[in-house]
Parts: sequence; structure tokens; C-alpha cells
Amino acid sequence: RAKQAGRNGFRFFTSEMQASSARVMIVENALRHALERDQFQLYFQPQVRLSDSQLVGAEVLLRWEHPELGHVDPADFIPIAEDSGQILQIGEWVLRQAVRQCKAWIDKGLAPILIAVNLSAVQFRDPRFPELVMQVLREEQLPPQYLELELTEGVAMDNPLEAIIIINRLLAHGISMSIDDFGTGYSSLSYLRRFDINKLKIDQSFVCEIGASSENRAIINAILGVAKSLGLKTIAEGVESEEQMTFLREKGCDEVQGFFIGKPLPAEQFEENFERQVLSLNTRLK
Ligand code: C2E
Ligand code: MG
Ligand code: MG
Ligand code: MG
Repeated sequence: RAKQAGRNGFRFFTSEMQASSARVMIVENALRHALERDQFQLYFQPQVRLSDSQLVGAEVLLRWEHPELGHVDPADFIPIAEDSGQILQIGEWVLRQAVRQCKAWIDKGLAPILIAVNLSAVQFRDPRFPELVMQVLREEQLPPQYLELELTEGVAMDNPLEAIIIINRLLAHGISMSIDDFGTGYSSLSYLRRFDINKLKIDQSFVCEIGASSENRAIINAILGVAKSLGLKTIAEGVESEEQMTFLREKGCDEVQGFFIGKPLPAEQFEENFERQVLSLNTRLK
């Protein structure tokens, strides 16, 4: 990965250290204290329905600010946390905070939205995971229909038969499931049919090239066609321009998410924008 650590902080890692095991060890050690030292924060990015411009959901994105390392990208630290097993504890924290926030918004009388939480392969394969999710929902008193779990295509297709069992267990509890970064892996359409999930998230790599590449437009069209015939909802991620949004609307994509609609924000700012967002979206999206 070409990402550099400390996007907003100073450069802690020299170029030689980027990919080195020393760097992995530093991050892994720093992660050990991240939870107790309160260095994590959840950001929320709006998801909007194209047919009526309604805010229908928010994806939860984890942010980590370390006093010396600065801002570390999830693409950098999540794989390290997965390898070390720390992702189980971190993922549970993310889930609980997200569920708690969603419940707090409902209790405040805001229109309920779906809260979409990213799931790591390690969490997904933990046999206790479905029960853990239900326990968190019970303890935080959030009905399961407000929670969506995002599983990447790669994880779902890595062992599809195993995935079907776990996905069905989660769905049976009333939780929604979506396939993240769709189009970047190798989906078997027959497994996709058997997955019985709710939504496909079209990967941003296709969306960002909508204007420039007819191949990518064709791919998006094909994904929308597959989703439609399987009865799956679609959301496009990484929507950065009006042009992209117009194309997606014309092609029948259900929902959009991206910088053009709204950047990921901490809960308080997301909430401030909640109503304003809906209003401004109504004018901006038409
Ligand atoms: P993802 O789930 O595919 O999330 C979408 C990523 O695209 C996020 O990056 C988001 O900030 C970014 N994004 C949103 N809109 C736009 C846009 O219009 N243009 C562009 N260029 N990017 C946009 P982020 O937050 O850096 O997260 C990267 C990945 O890290 C996520 O990809 C997800 O796989 C993982 N991740 C983030 N938070 C969590 C978490 O709590 N748990 C797990 N397991 N993974 C997480
Ligand atoms: Mg995601
Ligand atoms: Mg994605
Ligand atoms: Mg992605």
C-alpha cells in the first residue's frame, strides 16, 4: 500500500520504514493502548437515497490519532490489527459506539437512519460474533433493523459456503448486510444469489472513473443489472461530482455516498448537519 502514515501529523516513518517490520511493530504496540487512551474516534458519512434525496444511512469510519504517529489511516492500521488479533477488541468497540450513537439519535427524535459498520474478516470468522452483535444491540437497546454490517467482497467470496452460514445467522436476527467494495473481487454470481444479502456497494474505483472511462460505466451498468435481477439494493461509494451522481441516478442506482454528498464527520458535526443536510441535499440533488 502506498499510503503514508501521519497524513495530518508529521512524518514519523521514513520511507525505508514504510513497509518494514519495525513499522508494523511500532503500530502494533501503539494500538495496544489506543482504546484505553481514547485515541479512536468514529466518523459518520451520509448515505442518501437518489429517488427522494433522503438521508437514509451513515457509514461508520474509524479514525485514529496518535500523539506521536499523528493520524494513521485505517488502511494502514486495520491490517496490522487483524494480524495481531487486536481487531476483535477494536471492532467490538466500534460496533458498540456506533450502536450507542444511533440509539442516541433516535432517542433525540431525529429521523432514524441505518448505521453501517465495517466488518473485518477476523470478526466475521469469530464463532462468537453473531451472538456478540445481538448482545451489544440488546444492551444498547437498539432494534436490529437499524444496523447494517459491511463485508468486503473478498471476505465473502474467500470461503462462500462458510460465509453463507454466518451471513444467514446475522440476517435471521434482523440485521442488514451489504457487500463492500463490490466489483474488485471475484464474485461468483451463483454464490451471490445464495448470500441473500441486502445491498451491494459499488467500489469507488469504478465510480471515480465514470467520466473518463466507458469501461467503468459499462461495469457499473452490469453491476446494477445483476443487483436488480437478484433483488439487491445498490449504493455507489466515492461519489465526488454531480456528473457521477447524475449517471448513477439515470442508471437506477438506489443510493449514493461520497464527498459530493458529504464527508465523514464526527458524530456531533454529523448531527448538526443532520437536518441542514437533508435540506441542502434536497436543493442540491435537484
Ligand atoms: P470502505 O469501507 O470502502 O470505506 C470507504 C472509504 O472511502 C473511506 O476511507 C472513506 O473515507 C472514503 N471515501 C468516502 N467518500 C469518498 C469520496 O468521495 N472519495 C474518496 N476518494 N474517498 C471517499 P477510510 O475512512 O480511510 O477507510 C478505508 C477503509 O478502512 C474502509 O474502506 C474500510 O475497509 C476500512 N475501515 C474503516 N473503518 C473501519 C472499521 O471501523 N472497521 C473495519 N474493519 N474497517 C474499517
Ligand atoms: Mg465500507
Ligand atoms: Mg467500500
Ligand atoms: Mg473501499
